[in-house]
This record gives sequence, structure tokens and C-alpha cells, in this order.
Amino acid sequence: MVEETDVAVIGAGPSGLIAAQEASRMGLRVVVLEEHGEIGLPCHCAGLLSIRGLCRIGVPSSGVYTLNMIRGAHLFSPSKISITVEWESPVACVVNRHLFDLFLASEARRRGSLIMLGARVKRAYRKGDGWLLETSGGDAVKAKVLIDAEGATPRIPQMVGLKTHGAERLLKGIQADLSVSSLSTDYVEVYFGRNIAPGLFAWVIPLNDEVVRVGLACKTRDIREKFTKFVERRFKRTLKELKPIKYFTGLIITCGPIERTYSDGLLIVGDSAGHTKPITGGGVIFGGLCAKIAGRVASRAILSDNVSGEFLKAYEESWRSMIGGELKIALLIRRILDRFSDRDIDKIFLMALREKVHEKIVLGADMDYQAITLMKTLRARILKFIPMALSTIIGSVVGEGSKYIKGR
Ligand SMILES: Cc1cc2nc3c(=O)[nH]c(=O)nc-3n(C[C@H](O)[C@H](O)[C@H](O)COP(=O)(O)OP(=O)(O)OC[C@H]3O[C@@H](n4cnc5c(N)ncnc54)[C@H](O)[C@@H]3O)c2cc1C
Repeated sequence: MVEETDVAVIGAGPSGLIAAQEASRMGLRVVVLEEHGEIGLPCHCAGLLSIRGLCRIGVPSSGVYTLNMIRGAHLFSPSKISITVEWESPVACVVNRHLFDLFLASEARRRGSLIMLGARVKRAYRKGDGWLLETSGGDAVKAKVLIDAEGATPRIPQMVGLKTHGAERLLKGIQADLSVSSLSTDYVEVYFGRNIAPGLFAWVIPLNDEVVRVGLACKTRDIREKFTKFVERRFKRTLKELKPIKYFTGLIITCGPIERTYSDGLLIVGDSAGHTKPITGGGVIFGGLCAKIAGRVASRAILSDNVSGEFLKAYEESWRSMIGGELKIALLIRRILDRFSDRDIDKIFLMALREKVHEKIVLGADMDYQAITLMKTLRARILKFIPMALSTIIGSVVGEGSKYIKGR
């Protein structure tokens, strides 16, 4: 069977579903192809989303998918110096990603999108001015515009010669739901340290009074050992004793967006495009914002009967003007953080406590525009932090240089 449509979307994650919803809303025929038999499963997300971000992507923060509301964070340095950032009312919520994605799917269907489940796109190629997609089930879809929302390891961009992130640049993430209580039910806990989670951090997110979601992401291979050790250190019981209710694993992108996110008849969104926050790896909100733009640009292109790369370039210009600056600074901060030793992180914590940085963060905080928030917060204090950041970078560059010389 060949299904003819205006827009085909590969992947029914949040980015694909929001793009589909937006394109359907503009009156286009939309088909979403999802390889799994059920939307939102398997789940690979902690589900921590800012309320402001949800508002920006037009999704209510309270719904059947909402598990908990969060109004602060306890941050811990490697030697357990702690800083608490808190607000008077909730700033984020924890969602059940299975139910969250189902909600987005129902919204896309309500606008007219057709969602095909168990439809893995195994081949996609240009045919005339459009695309022909072949699924594992033997179906074919002919579309004028293709929106690629395949997630962290996409295949379509490479097929048209666009560069993607190599899998080796992605972080591995692991998490489990445990029946234990957290320090406070409306605060998340974040643990930094090279021994704990090199390349990112570990987290404890309360789902309610009795269950927490514990996880970490890192760039080393021994993630399971690191996770087991972290759980033991944090809860003073072994993972086995705690009998995890659910395990999740997945890939996290902190290396910024890919160079180009469009081509003739093609738009790339969400994790596929690297639309995630380099400081924390969260991708639902930025993916959703870019997906909305993709849906709109796709419909303008189809209505103007021009699906050329030249026309679709408007998508990239638009998302870069919205989050490009934030991503650039956040990427720089991520690179600096990656070079910090545990001692450096301890020093930063002490300095931040001394300068009362946490109190200032609260004033202008935006959980999604993290780099801009940090810059605003540090504005007057930046001069105190720069020498340390510079000495760390120079130290590690010199270190790498000397290793290289020794190696030769
Ligand atoms: C452990 C962990 C914790 C995280 N926590 C958070 C968090 O708290 N907050 C946050 O904002 N982000 C978080 N993230 C990141 C977040 O999960 C992603 O950024 C988000 O899911 C990206 O959405 P997406 O729609 O782009 O891709 P995905 O959600 O990955 O969806 C892609 C979909 O495409 C389908 N697909 C792929 N290839 C094909 C194909 N060929 N044919 C058909 N279907 C295909 C996949 O099966 C999948 O359903 C976390 C990630 C991990 C791994």
C-alpha cells in the first residue's frame, strides 16, 4: 500500500509529534511513522521539564502525565559541599514520559495526523520532488516534505550527506525508580564529580513521598558500576536490596546541534538535530520549540509549492535565532565543565557560596535558557570566575600537550 501525504514524520517522540501537530494544524496531510508498537515506550527520559518551557511549547504542566511538581534543587560537589537553589512556587514538573508522549500523540491525531505504529522506516529516498519511504511492514509513504525526528542516532541525515553526531560523542544514561524517599519531595538532587559521573552528573528526582527516580549519565563505559556505586553511596543500601521498580537506559546529547538541519525536502528536529541543552542534556523543550517551527516552515513550503533546501533554510534560520546563541554559550560552558577536576568543582561551589550565586540565580532563572541565566547571574562576579576557568583550560591543554609530546 502506498500512502500519499504532504508531510511524513519519522519518529513519534515529542519532537516528531509536535511537528506533526503543528503541520496538521496548518491544514496539511501528515503521516507519522513510529517503529515501536506503542507511543512513548520504551521510555528513556527522567521527565523533568520546566513549567515555562512547557508553556512555550503549548503543553499544560498539569495533566494525566504529571507525577510531581518541583520547586528547587540541592546541588552537591564531589566532597559534598551543598548549595540549594529554591523558588517559592514550582518551576518544573516531573512527567511520566509514556503518558506525556501519548498525550502529544492524541493532540496530533486530534488535528488530523495519521500515526502508523510498528512502522520502522528502513529506506528513504528522493523520488521526483518528494520522498518515498519504505517501512519494515512493507508499507510505503510518498511525501512532499520529510521531517526527521528519529532521536539520538538518526540515519536519514547521513543518507543525504549531512553530518550527524557520531555515537561516540553521546553520553550514556541510566536510571531506575526506587522505593525510597528523597531529601525533600519537591526538590531534585544533583551530584557532580568525575568519579560519580564524568561528563554530566547524577540525579535523584522525587516522584512522590515514596519513590525516587535515580540516574546518571557519563562518557565512560563503566556506567553500570558507577550507577551501582552512586546508589550505594547515596542511599547506604545496595541496588539489589533496593529492588529497582523500573530500569531505563538511553543516550544523551550534550555536544550541540549538527551543522545543518535542512536539505531539499528535509527538516531535522529534536535529538536528531542535537536540539538539546549542552549543560544538562534535556531535549524535550528545545526539541519541541524547533519542531513547531519545522511544522510551520514545512506547511509554508508546501503551500508555496517550493520544498527546495533554499526555501527550507528558513527553518534553520528561525531556530538558530531562537536558541542558537544559548546553545553556543552553553556548549562553551559544557566544554569548560568537562575539563574541571573534582577539586575545581569543589572550589567553584565554595566560591558560589561565598558570592551567594544561588540566591541571584533564583531572580532571573530560566531552566531552559541555562547559559543566559548563568551569565546574567554571574554578570558582576564573572571576573572572579574567569581566572579559574582559564587556568583549568590552560592546565588541561598543557596537560594534553605534554601527554602528546610524551607519546611521540
Ligand atoms: C536517561 C535519560 C534521561 C533524560 N532526562 C530528560 C529530562 O529529564 N528532561 C528532558 O527534557 N530530556 C531528558 N532526556 C532527553 C530526552 O529524552 C530527549 O531529548 C527527547 O526524548 C528527544 O525527543 P525526540 O522526539 O527528538 O526523540 P525520541 O524521544 O528519541 O523519539 C524518537 C522516536 O523515533 C523512533 N524512530 C527512530 N528511528 C526510526 C525509524 N527508522 N523508523 C520509525 N521510527 C523511528 C524511535 O523509536 C523513537 O520513538 C533524557 C534522556 C535520557 C537518555
